[in-house]
Amino acid sequence: MNKRSVRDLDLMNKRVLVRVDFNVPVKDGEVTDDTRIRRALPTIRHLLSEGARPVLVSHLGRPKGEPDQKYVMDPVAARLQELLGEPVEKLDAAVGPEVVEAIDDWDGRGVVLLENSRFYPGETSNDPGFADQLAALADLYVDDAFGAAHRAHATTVGVAERMPAAAGLLMEEEIDYLDKVLEDPERPFVAILGGAKVSDKLGVIESLLGTADSLLIGGAMGFTFFEALGYEIGDSLVEDDYLEEAKRLMEESGERLVLPVDVVVAEAMEEGAESETVASDGIPSGKMGLDIGPETVDLFEGHISGASTIFWNGPMGVFEIDDFAKGTEGVARAVAESEATSVVGGGDSVAAVNKLGLEGRMSHISTGGGASLEYVEGKELPGIAVLPEE
Ligand code: ADP
Ligand code: MG
Repeated sequence: MNKRSVRDLDLMNKRVLVRVDFNVPVKDGEVTDDTRIRRALPTIRHLLSEGARPVLVSHLGRPKGEPDQKYVMDPVAARLQELLGEPVEKLDAAVGPEVVEAIDDWDGRGVVLLENSRFYPGETSNDPGFADQLAALADLYVDDAFGAAHRAHATTVGVAERMPAAAGLLMEEEIDYLDKVLEDPERPFVAILGGAKVSDKLGVIESLLGTADSLLIGGAMGFTFFEALGYEIGDSLVEDDYLEEAKRLMEESGERLVLPVDVVVAEAMEEGAESETVASDGIPSGKMGLDIGPETVDLFEGHISGASTIFWNGPMGVFEIDDFAKGTEGVARAVAESEATSVVGGGDSVAAVNKLGLEGRMSHISTGGGASLEYVEGKELPGIAVLPEE
């Protein structure tokens, strides 16, 4: 990473505003998946051990620019305090005189957590007045919210323009792993793409075809390629507007683009629906393809086991339903067993890996869904672009 890192800052007795990504699922006042909180701990611990006062800020959910009891940060504060083992002082506002006072009254232990930044309309509009108020709270700014880096908001871009800024340890890890995959992958480099739509992932396919030795395609997006090849696809999801693109991608990439050879089909996308496995070019009418079949899992495993670098985004089937989760599970296990540097990005793919308990077996799991895809597409993320170089 060529950005200034939190490790380069003189932190002793400094108030440090830290943008974290604590946008976690909350149910009945409890955090149901604390992955993102855990991933922010190294930066928070680093700051504390260097004598800094961390002032954490994040958005949570999609409140409409005003306070909304459903999205208060209290459940996050409770979970963070358990994980950190240090007091977390949660404030009921993100800016204002009480906030300034609470931060200045710090007794040398623990962290301050500001209220949800999206309770303020100035967050998403990157309002200069709101950014000024946030910047006035601290001496330094550290951005550890890779998952929010594709948004030019006050807590990502506005504050970074107003104070000495650096990347946090998680941000650094995300950038380093994704850069390694994109710029300097050890070969063979195998990319695996799945999920619902070709249209969502066109930029990602394009970018990966530029570097990958093979690109394995699963999920619903495969059917747009099959349709373009003239196969019968029954009632499978297809994007007719993308048939030409699909043809072009297949022509340009030749054998590097690997499509499923068999498909699990059923009449409906439902638990308990009667399913069968058929060849990719023979999906019966009235049926839809909902997962890759066992021969495809074997084929993909062959590529994966020989890889030195793996990037995976998008489930291979409707993994939310057990009957159609085997393809995703097979691929996840193959990636977990491989010795390769493995990077997994994308909200649903990461959820699938977590559900299988395989997260510890991957080299890097990106905390950014949309952000990691935009990064792989080669787009400049505003939250990263704004950080100064070393
Ligand atoms: P990610 O969040 O990892 O980037 P996507 O959001 O692109 O992944 O896609 C995930 C969704 O794709 C899941 O909800 C999954 O059920 C759906 N999906 C995968 N395969 C199929 C299929 N064959 N038919 C319908 N939906 C599918
Ligand atoms: Mg998704």
